[in-house]
Amino acid sequence: MEIYQCKQKVKCDFAGCKNVADYSLVKSGLLRRDICLCEECMQEIYECISKVRVPKALESPFKLNKRLKKDEK
Ligand SMILES: [Zn+2]
Repeated sequence: MEIYQCKQKVKCDFAGCKNVADYSLVKSGLLRRDICLCEECMQEIYECISKVRVPKALESPFKLNKRLKKDEK
């Protein structure tokens, strides 16, 4: 999964959101289908994910980084 600055003027993919997208999420390898999100929705998703993901990262950010690198291979 990679994240890019969204260069096209497309609408945010989040249901009910009418903002222009600021970011594109691309899952490489499969058929290319970008998910475009605006700053606002990205922040909301981040906050949502952080509720289940951040506690471990706060405890040991270096270990988490190592784990992420390992997962990429
Ligand atoms: Zn949005």
